[in-house]
Amino acid sequence: MAHYAETHAMLGSGFYLMPDMSSRPEWDGMSNSMNLARFWTPCGWRQPADNLAGPARPNTDWILPGLVNLHSHAFQRAMAGLAEHRGSEADSFWTWREAMYRFASRIEPEDLHAIASQLYAEMLESGYTHVCEFHYLHHRRDGRAYTPTSAMADALVAAAQETGIGLTLLPVLYMQGSFDGRPLETPQRRFAHDVETFLQLLGDLRTRHPELCMGLAFHSLRAVPEKAMTTVLESGLAQDGPIHIHIAEQTAEVEDCRRTQGTTPVAWLLDHAPLDTRWCLVHATHMDKDETCRLAATGAVAGLCPTTEANLGDGLFPLLEYLQAGGRMGIGSDSHISVSPVEELRWLEYGQRLRNRGRNLVADDNTRHTGERLFAAAQAGGWQAAGLDSASSTAGTISLDASHPLLAARQADEVLDSWIFAGNVPLVREVYRHNRCRVREGRHVQHEAIAARYKTTLARLRT
Ligand SMILES: [Zn+2]
Repeated sequence: MAHYAETHAMLGSGFYLMPDMSSRPEWDGMSNSMNLARFWTPCGWRQPADNLAGPARPNTDWILPGLVNLHSHAFQRAMAGLAEHRGSEADSFWTWREAMYRFASRIEPEDLHAIASQLYAEMLESGYTHVCEFHYLHHRRDGRAYTPTSAMADALVAAAQETGIGLTLLPVLYMQGSFDGRPLETPQRRFAHDVETFLQLLGDLRTRHPELCMGLAFHSLRAVPEKAMTTVLESGLAQDGPIHIHIAEQTAEVEDCRRTQGTTPVAWLLDHAPLDTRWCLVHATHMDKDETCRLAATGAVAGLCPTTEANLGDGLFPLLEYLQAGGRMGIGSDSHISVSPVEELRWLEYGQRLRNRGRNLVADDNTRHTGERLFAAAQAGGWQAAGLDSASSTAGTISLDASHPLLAARQADEVLDSWIFAGNVPLVREVYRHNRCRVREGRHVQHEAIAARYKTTLARLRT
């Protein structure tokens, strides 16, 4: 607790994220204006020695806790934008998946390191300070294991360490091609585990990276039989840490589940798995009212990825009904067609506006500002899905550039609305994590070197 007290400041009704003021060397730029800065907390903005009465002072940055990107397949960043042309058959999620498999087939551990480093640097520049990596690209192209078997996961860990982003690693169990138990296709061999080798991987990773925040993931109901899921959950390696699963993303998947299991994916999971606050259901796009209320009552997080869900033509998550039922949610960039918490949060609200022909729909009587409501919900749900406490020193802080014209003459309660709905120009000026500056003046501190390596890697992968 002593360390906790040292790294946090008491602000208003609770403590909140304030970098350790005792580690000055890296804290230079921000520390000079620290006593003037405004800090966002779930209870509102706080400003030391000032109760924020009146208009905001100019040119003192707005400081926020970083956001969690709760769903990432890092390698997919390298193919973002390469599947936006018509193919020979009707384009769909499933034709996109074929293109993704072709791209994935070429990637080796050093490539993944280069791609993930670029992606994580972009995440930090956009305001994410932690990422949950839903990692299923485990093996060599022919399906044989690397030596060590964790080589691909090690590459992700190295990229997180290099860039300074927080990482929750979620090794993925992927066993079969569909609900009927068909074997994986050739391009899917890189993803395959049986329960025994999967548990071995979890054990190896915990030994190799004892400090790493780790959970596990089931790729989807269609990829993991019930018996395997139960065995993993009852093993000693699944007693703590978050548990993530793709669920009900596409209607074809829902219909397959209904045909083979006699019910829909979310209903099946609610009936057969011990859903609680450790779980994150990624997408959960297709739910009826009963499923929506039941999921909300479990305390699990719905992992929403609006830009990917739009890009892949998934459908719209029933956000208003879910939030009204007390559901928890967070955001992820998934396929990384966009790497921007601003865009994810904005499209959560815009999807509902387009569907319901209204405005400020996510806001409620307690939080009347839509940006604030979106940010607070994603902040709390994201940290829960990452298996971490948002008030821990791992969260990191981001500062929004108060001198930018987009934030001119804004009251405190208008800042998040302005950032999320008008912030097309990146407003994140600095990012600190573990008391080190990771982003300065909008650029990751290793931006040039990481980008150069990424470009070389992409040029090779695309020849
Ligand atoms: Zn995904």
